Amino acid sequence: MTTTTTTFVAARSRAHGPTAALWHAVEVHRTVADLDGACELTVCGSLARVSTERAWPATGTDVCPACTTQAR
Ligand SMILES: [Zn+2]
Repeated sequence: MTTTTTTFVAARSRAHGPTAALWHAVEVHRTVADLDGACELTVCGSLARVSTERAWPATGTDVCPACTTQAR
């Protein structure tokens, strides 16, 4: 039986109007190094730039609650 491993990386969205920039989760099936700086679709459906500065799960108050719930 093949086990599929799902990996999440942290991605930073831009501040958008009244919404502050948040850390989101992006599901990856490739090497994270290939994604650094790339704009990817997040788990919650927005676009954010992948960063290797932070690891997912991210901690703190500036983390997307939808991604936190869905990407564990
Ligand atoms: Zn999110």
